[in-house]
Amino acid sequence: MPEPIIQLKDLEITYNLGKVNEFKATRGVSMEIFPGEFVAFFGPSGCGKSTMFYSILGILPPSGCELYVKGENPYSFSPEEMVNFQTNTIGIIYQAFFLINSISVIDNVVLTQTFHGVPPGKRKPWGKQILKRFEMDIHSEKYPDNLSGGQYQRVSVSRAMVNNPDILLADEPTGNLDSVSTKQVMDALEEINMVDKKTVIIITHNAAQLSYAHRVFYMGDGKLQRTVPNPDKKQIAKIDKQKILVTEMDQLSKLWPYDNPVTLKVKSLVNYLTQDMSFDQLVRLEDFLRLIIERKMSREEFAKSLSREYRQGGVGLSSNLAAVMSEKVEKILHQAEDTRRFRRRFTANNFFSKEKRLIDRLTKYLIEEHRGELNLTQKRRLKELVYNRMAGLIRKEEFEDSLGTPIEEGGVGFSPKPARQMTFYFENIIIQGNETKLHGH
Ligand code: ADP
Repeated sequence: MPEPIIQLKDLEITYNLGKVNEFKATRGVSMEIFPGEFVAFFGPSGCGKSTMFYSILGILPPSGCELYVKGENPYSFSPEEMVNFQTNTIGIIYQAFFLINSISVIDNVVLTQTFHGVPPGKRKPWGKQILKRFEMDIHSEKYPDNLSGGQYQRVSVSRAMVNNPDILLADEPTGNLDSVSTKQVMDALEEINMVDKKTVIIITHNAAQLSYAHRVFYMGDGKLQRTVPNPDKKQIAKIDKQKILVTEMDQLSKLWPYDNPVTLKVKSLVNYLTQDMSFDQLVRLEDFLRLIIERKMSREEFAKSLSREYRQGGVGLSSNLAAVMSEKVEKILHQAEDTRRFRRRFTANNFFSKEKRLIDRLTKYLIEEHRGELNLTQKRRLKELVYNRMAGLIRKEEFEDSLGTPIEEGGVGFSPKPARQMTFYFENIIIQGNETKLHGH
């Protein structure tokens, strides 16, 4: 594996150090980013994403940490070396529009080359060539004021690429754009990553953009909460295979606050049913799951389709396995109705009479799945956790942790495996119970 291109060890950045309003914006972030990776920093506003960005860029010195970019500490550079670093190693794209309005598009793109004494006869054709790549060459003589948001950002991408940097840093590059322009800009970044093999780092709080990244760094509260590899991308960093499976569910559950399209539900169920099948069989299984999720197929037809021979249009499973699977799917979809009802009432703020019954039922489903005996305290605590998770008061990890905490310490007292299994099962019901809207993601 190659050496990391960016390495942070215990990054700490404190604003207003020593003053009454001293504030620690990042609290010990460690990560390694490898050459050719596309990574996303994802997290709510104020969690420290931009602070890290500025620190990597060499303009916000950390109060404590080790930070290396291409093996060097940018804060040890002389002023000239720093300028060289910021123009040749890192290209930057900001959310807020930072082109200069009084000069043309092409002059904006090649501006840094002007500073470095590249003659006009060389820099203009080069600028044009880059603009052409992002389908902006026809606008090269326009002024930035006259561009649409998406065109403007594609000029920003061209400008960031003009010195052929190793790393492209983009801070909410699509924050102000509509969905069509967003896709164009994201596709341009993907191309720079895949074709030019540049390392691309984006800051985003748009979950739909995470699919572009090899890895997602979930930030929260000035810390790196966890790192999630994207199972659909061939990884560059070394990843524990075991983790990819677990984290696909993590990724899905993270998406819960948003409206999940049918495809996410399909993925989740396929994951749940394990993957002992060929790719062709999986694709068929996905098709049938889509039909049953959309209520376009009955349970009987579903079971038959699973056991029908592959050549006759089925998935080709044994009739036993087909029966077990269709029973599981039906049960989950049925139970998910209750999470859907709960969310509807909860978001409509109108759940006073029925909410308790729904939580009782959901708790019962989990207990049935668990099979072991629970005493009254355990049942009461489980019910509380079910409510807290459904109301969004705790995250999936906290749910699992509380299940695994001993009874005398206020938990449910499960051992790790049943705690994990119950959480996995519950998350599946929650995902399937989301209202489905066919947009986004
Ligand atoms: P994000 O990019 O995730 O929205 P930021 O890195 O911009 O978060 O900010 C992290 C925290 O640091 C926020 O609570 C913010 O208010 C605080 N902060 C950012 N810049 C400054 C500053 N110059 N002085 C004091 N606090 C700051």
